[in-house]
Amino acid sequence: MTSQAEITAAPLRREWSNVEIEKLIWLWKNVQSITTISGVLERSTSAVQTQASRRSLPKRTVSTPGENEILLTASQRAKLLDVYRRNKSGIPVTELASTIRASIETILNTVLVLSRDDPRYLARLTFPMTSGDMRECLRCRRPFCSEGRHNRICSNCKSSDDWLNDV
Ligand SMILES: [Zn+2]
Repeated sequence: MTSQAEITAAPLRREWSNVEIEKLIWLWKNVQSITTISGVLERSTSAVQTQASRRSLPKRTVSTPGENEILLTASQRAKLLDVYRRNKSGIPVTELASTIRASIETILNTVLVLSRDDPRYLARLTFPMTSGDMRECLRCRRPFCSEGRHNRICSNCKSSDDWLNDV
């Protein structure tokens, strides 16, 4: 029998939505620093690593320290703030990158710093969700990164007992 104390002590696990998973797959390809990715997704770096492996994303070594601290220059930052002022709705991060002429990673690092004072900076960013190698797993119906057209089951399902029994 589980006591009340044990229930309280259990770590809170927030379920990943398919939209969040698609965002993770996109970020994995465009951003090196796992610290940056975890900041954007508002999840711990270990949660990000675990989900990346379940979604069949390529393994990645721990990012270089300080990689997430590379920020926009003062003039690039002024341009970014200007884009935010002019746009009242969502701002695609890719458009921001081409307007400011900066890497997506540097933009995200800067937006994360701005979001410490005002979370709307991060909330207003939008991410392109289309990616050639993104597929829906036939078993769990969640998006994952597929190596080829014959690969239709995500890593997480492949490693589950049920799947092994099915074969
Ligand atoms: Zn699956």
